[in-house]
Amino acid sequence: MVDCLFCKIAKKEIPVEVICENEEALSFLDVNPFVLGHALIIPKSHAENIGDLRDEEVGPVFQTVKKVTGMLKKALGPEGFTIGINHGRISGQSVPHLHIHVIPRYPGDGGGSIHSVVENRPKESVKETREKIIKANYGN
Ligand code: 5GP
Ligand code: ZN
Repeated sequence: MVDCLFCKIAKKEIPVEVICENEEALSFLDVNPFVLGHALIIPKSHAENIGDLRDEEVGPVFQTVKKVTGMLKKALGPEGFTIGINHGRISGQSVPHLHIHVIPRYPGDGGGSIHSVVENRPKESVKETREKIIKANYGN
C-alpha cells in the first residue's frame, strides 16, 4: 500500500532499527518505546488486521514473535513479556498495518496485565455467548 507507514518500513524506505526478519515478516524496535526493548512484528505485505493476513503468513509472523522474545530475553534479560495487538481503531490501533507489540516486562516496571485493558462485564452467561458464536458460524 503506497501511503502506509509500515509498508514503507517493510521495504526499508525509511530508517528503522530492524532486529530480525524472514520472507514474510519483519521485526523492528518501536520508535517510541514504552520500555527498554519494545519491539514490533509486522507482515511484510500490507494487511490491516488479522482477518487480512494470508494463511501462509500466519506461521512466519508468529515464528518471528517467538524469535524476538528469545532475542530480547538474551540481550536485555526481562522477566517476562506482554505481547499484544491493538486490533482496530477502537482498541487503540494507530497504524493501520497489523503489528504485534512485544513489550518486555521488568521487575518494578509499574505496568499492568492484559486484564487491565477493559472491564465491561457481560450480562449474559458464557454458555449463551458460546451458543451465539456457534450458531452464527456453523448454524445451530
Ligand atoms: P498502535 O498504537 O497502532 O498499536 O502502535 C503503533 C506503534 O508504532 C506505536 O507504538 C508507535 O510508537 C510505533 N511507530 C509509529 N511510527 C513509527 C515509525 O515510524 N517507526 C517505528 N519504529 N515505530 C513507529
Ligand atoms: Zn501497510
